[in-house]
Amino acid sequence: MKKDKRDIRALSKEELRDFFTSIGQQAFRGNQVYDWLWAKGIRNFEDMTNISKETREMLADSFVINHIEVDKMQKSNDGTIKNAVRLHDKNIVESVLIPTDTRTTACVSSQVGCSLNCAFCATARLKRMRNLKPDEIYDQVFVIDQQSRLYFDRPLSNIVFMGMGEPLMNHRNVLQAIEKITSPEGLNMSPRRITVSTSGIPKMIKILADQEVKFNLAVSLHSAIDEIRTKVMPFNETFPLADLKEALIHWYEKTKRRVTYEYLIWDGINDRQEDIDALIDFCQAIPCKVNIIEYNPIDDGIFQQANPEITNKYEVALERHGITVTVRRSRGKDIDAACGQLANKSIEEAPILKK
Ligand code: SAH
Repeated sequence: MKKDKRDIRALSKEELRDFFTSIGQQAFRGNQVYDWLWAKGIRNFEDMTNISKETREMLADSFVINHIEVDKMQKSNDGTIKNAVRLHDKNIVESVLIPTDTRTTACVSSQVGCSLNCAFCATARLKRMRNLKPDEIYDQVFVIDQQSRLYFDRPLSNIVFMGMGEPLMNHRNVLQAIEKITSPEGLNMSPRRITVSTSGIPKMIKILADQEVKFNLAVSLHSAIDEIRTKVMPFNETFPLADLKEALIHWYEKTKRRVTYEYLIWDGINDRQEDIDALIDFCQAIPCKVNIIEYNPIDDGIFQQANPEITNKYEVALERHGITVTVRRSRGKDIDAACGQLANKSIEEAPILKK
């Protein structure tokens, strides 16, 4: 039986150098191959033009390059591009390119499906099948950088981990991907332009803080009252707001980086004065900013965006307390590329739909 070929991008640069020495070649070949695999993002061994034909064939005999493939690309009227990305095992995730006048932001996925069960999110209806590997995360960014150059004549400027999945449930691979994305040997992007969005897993926030990571953290808060947050984000029962707050204080002490709270406002759920008061109180813990996002319906009609007066009431109250607040309009709604809509329609393969 033919033995399974190894994924060459699971090897570090050192391991690649060692591989070449072990077969009697010079270690610097390892550097060359590494450069092709990451900075140049090639998908076939034949494209490694400074490597001899025999060596390329030998590599192809022993290894595979499991590059992602864009299965389907959809363009929104507002310029947003959604990629349905096929992984080597045929699973599909989605990633989105969001252009503005001055920036291009990539919104990337970290898991196939999601293990959390936020009641308002389309991805939550999918089973969590598996974590994405560092290279599968890196590739999503690489592809969007290429699309940005091709369609908008500029490189990618920002990355948000707001696609499918909970990045902190896959924190090792997410951190490794970020390391490659920020490395001069990868895409050389500044960590300051990267935001990891989490539903708020206290233990993981503390781990990141202890590593003094340099990227930004966003927390999907949606309510600062336990009872309500648990209704919309049931895992809050296990990780209540007091634990989250404590972890965030630790984050700020270690990183000195202000946190963004993402916040949706729904009719009859968190549209009362006491909801606003609780949020203001939560915001006193550490320097922060509130990003009010527009709710994108996911077809079940249970959640309804609160009316604009309520949003306005939140804005005014937060500002009165000196808290920075932004209201974000959704992009790419017509192609189901907006927040929480990923996997709404494009992933029709039954296996990953929760029963
Ligand atoms: N699991 C991570 C990242 C993915 S979700 C997290 O929870 O932060 C990215 C953002 O989209 C989160 O703030 C999430 O709460 C929000 N979101 C989910 N469903 C949404 C919907 N239907 N409309 C608008 N935003 C939604």
